Amino acid sequence: MFEGLRLRHWRTGTDADGFVTLTLDRAGSSVNTLARAVLEELDQLLDRLRIEPPAGVVVCSGKAAGFIAGADIHEFADYERDGAVRAAIEFGQRVCQKLAELPCPSVAAIHGHCMGGGTELALACTCRVATRDPKTRIGLPEVMLGIHPGWGGTARLPRLVGALRALPLMLTGRAVSAEAAQALGLVDRVTEEGTLPDAARELLRRLPQRAFMQRLRAWADNTWIARQVLAPIVFRQTAAKVRRAHYPAPFALIEVWRRGGGDITQRLRLEADSVVRLAATPAARNLVRVFFLQERLKAQGDDTAHGIAHVHVIGAGTMGGDIAAWCALRGFSVSLQDRELRFVEPALARARALFEKRLKSPARIATAQARLRADVEGTQVAAADLVIEAIYEDAEAKRALYAAAQPNLRAEALLASNTSSIPLNELARGLAAPGRFVGLHFFNPVARMPLVEVVRHARLDARTEQRALAFCRAIDKLPVAVKGTPGFLVNRILVPYMLEAARGLNDGIPGAVLDRAARGFGMPVGPIELMDTVGLDVAASVGQELAPFLGLDLPAGIERLLQAGKRGRKDGQGFYRWQDGRPVKPDVPKDYRAPEDLELRLIGPMLNEAVACLAEGVVDDADLLDAGVIFGTGFAPFRGGPIAYIRSVGAGALRAQLEGLAARHGPRFAPRPGWDHPALRTAG
Ligand code: NAD
Repeated sequence: MFEGLRLRHWRTGTDADGFVTLTLDRAGSSVNTLARAVLEELDQLLDRLRIEPPAGVVVCSGKAAGFIAGADIHEFADYERDGAVRAAIEFGQRVCQKLAELPCPSVAAIHGHCMGGGTELALACTCRVATRDPKTRIGLPEVMLGIHPGWGGTARLPRLVGALRALPLMLTGRAVSAEAAQALGLVDRVTEEGTLPDAARELLRRLPQRAFMQRLRAWADNTWIARQVLAPIVFRQTAAKVRRAHYPAPFALIEVWRRGGGDITQRLRLEADSVVRLAATPAARNLVRVFFLQERLKAQGDDTAHGIAHVHVIGAGTMGGDIAAWCALRGFSVSLQDRELRFVEPALARARALFEKRLKSPARIATAQARLRADVEGTQVAAADLVIEAIYEDAEAKRALYAAAQPNLRAEALLASNTSSIPLNELARGLAAPGRFVGLHFFNPVARMPLVEVVRHARLDARTEQRALAFCRAIDKLPVAVKGTPGFLVNRILVPYMLEAARGLNDGIPGAVLDRAARGFGMPVGPIELMDTVGLDVAASVGQELAPFLGLDLPAGIERLLQAGKRGRKDGQGFYRWQDGRPVKPDVPKDYRAPEDLELRLIGPMLNEAVACLAEGVVDDADLLDAGVIFGTGFAPFRGGPIAYIRSVGAGALRAQLEGLAARHGPRFAPRPGWDHPALRTAG
């Protein structure tokens, strides 16, 4: 049937029942992605199957990791060419449609990841079976790249499971387990790993009858009237979460669905037109770039080259406790030291809660717990390959601790500090082996913040830096190497922004207005809410450390609140009153008009400091700077990071705007040295 085809990525087989199996095993790659070449081969296979239909077709993966991870995003770079997006979308749609129109039934046999184009291919099959394994995740995450499904996902999923089930999945990009996919009606059968091929053939033998309710939903949700009534509701719900101006894709998706009629060809055309339009938006380009930046951070350091098995953490407070728990969760053997056991116990309780949330099964929770031990005497320092210090932010105390610990360290062991603001050169003074000392700056909350700054200093060994980067990868964090100057990268950029917001409050601008202005730009939370969340004590201590270096002074309001014991969220009161974990923001008087330059007044200082960091080489290049700021502060990803944003607006224009701010509000806004840096003009 397949004579004469030269296949590199697909294997074929036919069994005694006349079922053909198409196994995708993309050459030269450990995961399957639907590159153009992969789809071209599938297209040829489908042509043959159309001419000589077998009893049924099984589509499965030859990779251990999973089914299909999606389209090959590296080919997106090619999309800059005229017409390339339309060609890629229409080709993918044609291949999926050919699969859907085969004169015989087909089944997708899914294990592991099944994402984006992989899910769309599965949706084009007659039915789907997936393994129960926790690694099985099925989703359509295209919105995260600023587009929406383009190979028939929007045309098929609402008609299969009902729009009210399909839309949330596509609008959030969230992936679901096999069981959840079955409950949705997205897969027809869930099976154990070893029985996947049999279960797939069984489905072909006896095609699933969809339950009456599923068929009813699939019909009722998609009638013309339902689409016209439901679309505005879903639109409003989406608008309450994201802004259309920032993230147009979810809104475009709702519109594609609203306009899509009963004819698949029409629905596919609407889908293709919409993706072509979205792919040309700055949001999509920036989000794809952010995806690649993340890949670049992940590629730093081979995650087996760190030589670390045992981690010892000193200081079981907010940070040390959570760092220890995270390392144990990720499989490291961890000991946790503090001055007394009573300081360690709350950290162990928090660790248990983390393990329960993440690991679910009692056996895995127990194994993780066994990996984390209290060690008040610090005897495990001598057994550790990495010692992470996370005690109070006090240079003297930290140096005293290193002096006591260092004689006990193993010859190859690394010593790391989680300091947020003390220059590393200052901490490295007096160390016997400064080459093996490094900063590992985690962010709060450790379990949620993806970034770790690997902090350099003058006497750091290159190998230590490599081991530190590799260790970060092994605990599934995104590392960025930064210079050990005050505030490193992330805090140095956040502090001027937060201080400016506090100054705005002192000038009588309501907190809610300040927060709204920053969110209007695309920050995930406003600066006043952010300060309350991290704690005014933490913000003030970092601010104090940095203010002289940045030539700023600390606005008065923070000190007053601290003296009154109002540190923010943790005390139920800071700039805002907090109730049930949420800030209660006082109403803004109706006639209040926000200053016109407010957004720039908040964002400008961040951009200004980003330029200074670039010019001073705080990070190695502009891309790493953008990545660090996006993953460390949540800086509007759809804007591509501060440097990408400066490029898009124009360095000259922004610099002039800062000069305007300096003339109106004071010299703190004056452009910092570096605005003539070549990376501000062109990428690369
Ligand atoms: P914390 O006050 O919550 O915890 C510090 C812990 O260290 C306390 O439990 C204390 O008992 C213990 N400790 C003090 N001296 C000790 C010693 N000699 N031996 C053993 N234990 C000792 O502080 P934190 O907020 O976790 O901050 C710790 C470090 O992390 C600081 O350097 C801070 O700048 C940095 N950091 C904090 C945050 C944050 O948001 N809290 C974020 C990033 C980095």
